[in-house]
Amino acid sequence: MKPGLRPVFPFSAIVGQDDMKLALVCAALDPTIGGVLVLGDRGTGKSTAIRALAALLPPMRAIVDCRYSCDPGDSDSWCAECRDRASLGALKDRAIAVPVVDMPLGVTEDRVVGALDLERALSQGVKAFEPGLLARANRGFLYIDEVNLLEDHLVDLLIDVAASGENLVEREGLSVRHPARFVLIGSGNPEEGELRPQLLDRFGLSVDIKTPTVLADRVEVIKRRDEFERDKPAFIAKWKKEDDALRRRIVAGRKRLAEMSIPDEVLESTAKLCMHLGTDGLRAELTLMRAARALASFEGSTAVAETHLRRVASSALRHRLRRDPLDESGSGARIERAIQEALGP
Ligand SMILES: [Zn+2]
Repeated sequence: MKPGLRPVFPFSAIVGQDDMKLALVCAALDPTIGGVLVLGDRGTGKSTAIRALAALLPPMRAIVDCRYSCDPGDSDSWCAECRDRASLGALKDRAIAVPVVDMPLGVTEDRVVGALDLERALSQGVKAFEPGLLARANRGFLYIDEVNLLEDHLVDLLIDVAASGENLVEREGLSVRHPARFVLIGSGNPEEGELRPQLLDRFGLSVDIKTPTVLADRVEVIKRRDEFERDKPAFIAKWKKEDDALRRRIVAGRKRLAEMSIPDEVLESTAKLCMHLGTDGLRAELTLMRAARALASFEGSTAVAETHLRRVASSALRHRLRRDPLDESGSGARIERAIQEALGP
């Protein structure tokens, strides 16, 4: 069965975990927010949520026979092959599901970035490139479970590519570049390995998820999961209306994003809050602003208000605080306090 057609647990049927759902929706709405880091216990449905989100998004148009699923509507982002073929005649396109690519632990760099066949290049004079996971993730999501256990050089590489939107592979004087725009989703359990501050800072949003402690929620989680496992099509049909409504809000939110205005006083509040918390550089402010704007767009507002800012502040800033970033409960409380002190109750 094709991966896009596998039955996926409906996003709307996920019980609770509102911070995570909101962060994922914001990142899907505006990919420039820069990915989401989901920290928490095992078995809290992190990977279910990301798959559910991708399945919820409307299919996208992609150029037929392109190994990078180039966007027919954005010729600036095309790979070299699409550019060459376009000069010879019109390109065909088709609808494809938004890709979710898993990055397994222990993966080789060649498998991630793609492999250049030097032997063929030397013997036949052709540039033979076998695309890797980054090619498959173009325009979709790249999911790394247990990002804290991934080798440092791979993490650095992924973060650089995610920021530039382009994968450049160079071997022995040969080089290939192709578009690789994706939303990086990392998940991890902080108890199982350190996350370097440099890594934390490069994720746009960070959320902390916990196993539900309310009895009724736990029961509901089990109930829905069991119902899904027993009859997937029926369960998906049951939640279709809610998923459809959510999809429409995301699509409308994306359209609204370009016209969304941010009043100066909201920008001032953004800067004030970041100054108060002592976050380094502009990244924190930009991310906070973008996340607030995505939230406002998603909710159908015409302008960003301070209330939007307050609601995304924790996700946008908690992983950028200077002290122990793994002390999540502490950092969340610290941000709440900073909001009160810098912006008032
Ligand atoms: Zn292409």
